[in-house]
Amino acid sequence: MTISDLRSARTTIGEGIDYHDNILSTIGHTPLVRLNAVASGLEPLILAKVEYFNPGGSVKDRIGWPIIEDAERDGRLRPGGTIVEATSGNTGVGLAIAAAITGYRCIFVMPDKMSQEKILLLRAFGARVVVTPTAVEPEDPRSYYSVARRLVEETPNAILANQYYNPVNPQAHFETTGPEIWQQTAGRITHFITGMGTGGTISGVGRYLKSQNPEIQVIGVDPIGSILYELHRSGTMTAAEGYKVEGIGEDFLPGATDLSIIDEIVPVNDRESLLMTRRLVREEGLFCGGSGGSAVAGALKYIQQHRLGTDAVVVVVLPDSGSRYLSKVFDDGWMRENGFLEQVWSDVRAGDIQSQKASGQIFTARAGDLLRDVVTLMKSHNISQLPVVNDESRLIGLVSEIDLLNHMLLADHVHQPDETIESMINSDVPVVGPNARLETLMSLISDRAAVVIVDGDDRVTGILTKIDLLDFLSSQIR
Ligand code: PMP
Repeated sequence: MTISDLRSARTTIGEGIDYHDNILSTIGHTPLVRLNAVASGLEPLILAKVEYFNPGGSVKDRIGWPIIEDAERDGRLRPGGTIVEATSGNTGVGLAIAAAITGYRCIFVMPDKMSQEKILLLRAFGARVVVTPTAVEPEDPRSYYSVARRLVEETPNAILANQYYNPVNPQAHFETTGPEIWQQTAGRITHFITGMGTGGTISGVGRYLKSQNPEIQVIGVDPIGSILYELHRSGTMTAAEGYKVEGIGEDFLPGATDLSIIDEIVPVNDRESLLMTRRLVREEGLFCGGSGGSAVAGALKYIQQHRLGTDAVVVVVLPDSGSRYLSKVFDDGWMRENGFLEQVWSDVRAGDIQSQKASGQIFTARAGDLLRDVVTLMKSHNISQLPVVNDESRLIGLVSEIDLLNHMLLADHVHQPDETIESMINSDVPVVGPNARLETLMSLISDRAAVVIVDGDDRVTGILTKIDLLDFLSSQIR
């Protein structure tokens, strides 16, 4: 059975049973979801086309089966054959899903900057994965394009899926993604915005939308370091530089990219892309990958620059799932190592610092405690200040070693054996909740000895000193 037969076996409904004959017919028909928090203050309706709803978790599921179908149709791919592709990961999954059902073998060639999750994912589908160096020219025999071409020559009955030049790639988007967006927006879309890798998405969707309404603006988003922005703007070919976002940006112009369909390209940097990705997950619940963050960051910039109003309906593509980047965008250590750090500090809360203290134990004293017992407690646990609480465990103040010392040294003071700490309590204590941000702590602690953390009932849940902040910050820098 060819992939066309398999693909055409769409949802079957009979006797109340509703199912798909195989996974292929679940590809596409992804939802549009409105962006709210990240788009606050902007007038247009901004809708994310959430492509991680595809069964393989990315927009590239859409091109896997049509590429195989095309190769079967013209006889290049015969039963038992092998599909080879140079892929940043997602096209591999799209092809592997279709290959799993049709019984073809897959070999994928990936540059070494790609996440480990993507390599493991392709291997999970039974594919052979060859990893090649990222930092070489496309013509270099070690580049992933060159290695893929060589593997096709060496393997009998093998085809190169060739997503960068294969017209089936943009055509798949012309036939599926474009019409879906047109129908979902009832033809009211005014701007289509997406990142560009092979350019298949932007070229196919752009061509379809403009065929329906030539006024629709088609906007590309390009990571700084890629050549596409400058090539489109001035026709100049610049030298490519490295960047961290995966799946978008190029060091050459792919044949699948139709620059003439693109009205404008917005450049974005890694920092804004990756921080936006994290915001999309945390503020919108949209668990997308870094190129989705780039697309949204670029879209918001474009909307602001062009002062789009309430009549604009903007569709922006989230190409894949965040699960592919858990060890990168969503790993604070990786974010710090790559210098996307400052904003990450703003995520740090007082409660996080308290819970990471080597000794999490919290000691407190009562106003009626004897001075000598309090001194013994402080000495034995090597602590220099102690929150003082009342009978309901609510904070009433702080005693610090310097206050105790000053008290004991008072010239006219005669020490009593049953002396309590009552007169030594300092009630002027900076107090914060567990969600206080690092910058609040820094400002409070700069001229104070300590900050006390209390819960909603004023019960002490922690105490932070300068050295605790220093310990925490230095433990975060690898
Ligand atoms: N984002 C990711 C994560 C991708 O893998 C790709 C495909 N390389 C894209 C965006 C860009 O899609 P296209 O190749 O259709 O331009």
